[in-house]
Amino acid sequence: TIAFESLAERLQQTMQKIKGKGKVSEADVKEMAREVRLALLEADVNFKVVKQFVNRVKERAVGQEVMKSLTPGQQVIKVVNEELTALMGSEESKIETASKPPTVIMMVGLQGAGKTTTTAKLANYLRKKKNKTPMLVAADIYRPAAIDQLNTLGKQLDMPVYSEGTDVSPVDIVKRGVEKAKEEHHDTVILDTAGRLHVDENLMDELKEMKASVNPDEILLVVDAMTGQDAVNVSEQFNELLEISGVVLTKLDGDTRGGAALSIRAVTEKPIKFAGMGEKIDQLEPFHPERMASRILG
Ligand code: GDP
Repeated sequence: TIAFESLAERLQQTMQKIKGKGKVSEADVKEMAREVRLALLEADVNFKVVKQFVNRVKERAVGQEVMKSLTPGQQVIKVVNEELTALMGSEESKIETASKPPTVIMMVGLQGAGKTTTTAKLANYLRKKKNKTPMLVAADIYRPAAIDQLNTLGKQLDMPVYSEGTDVSPVDIVKRGVEKAKEEHHDTVILDTAGRLHVDENLMDELKEMKASVNPDEILLVVDAMTGQDAVNVSEQFNELLEISGVVLTKLDGDTRGGAALSIRAVTEKPIKFAGMGEKIDQLEPFHPERMASRILG
């Protein structure tokens, strides 16, 4: 993956400088923190997030206890690694399951973020890795071809797709879709809802109405990592209006600078649960903050 390449390169250079040091002075830490700050800002990480992050790293790096197993330089790197991991959420988050099936997962997001593709990818993942029997519901009635697209993906996966065309209220479609999943004993139902080109009141009202009518176990917001700070703003807006349960960050296989991946958790307090790593149906991965941090720091 070429994502984060320049951030990774810059941070690795900075860490390289401090790594071999047998003694780390306060000035060394300050210099390191300054470089980390610039690298993160350049990667389009939210400035408030950068500020908090750098302060925490500085505080811990200066005040830390000396451990015999690591050189002082290595200890500083360990602090940066831990804080980078914590920034992205510390541990991998799971998909909630309903105590009484089916588990209802509502996919939301702006048009073009990768919502329909991710709906199918997630269904494939849950079936393959978690032994679930998902059914899909095509409720994106506004984007031309979204329903066809989901039907095609359903066929490819040999997985049922519930749809009622484009002339029916999407709130009714999801309600009946969930009923159908219940009748046919699917343990999971994933709803592909409508997106718009930007967050607007109609979109949010409709999604709120859907939420109230099917009471989803998960509301996953799909955002495009390539859009950087826009992805963070969109996440903030959706979370405020709809209270999402997590984020799927798509297009992490592209040359994103990393700002969205590093800011969303801190800004919304909601975890990134999955990452889209390509256009193919099996290119969805659980998001591992620790692995991501290690990848960035090399
Ligand atoms: P929607 O409007 O949000 O439903 O978006 P789509 O699911 O139609 O996806 C928009 C485009 O993004 C399509 O060309 C997808 O193949 C592409 N896409 C989705 N996820 C990923 C990803 O993780 N990586 C890459 N490279 N492309 C993706």
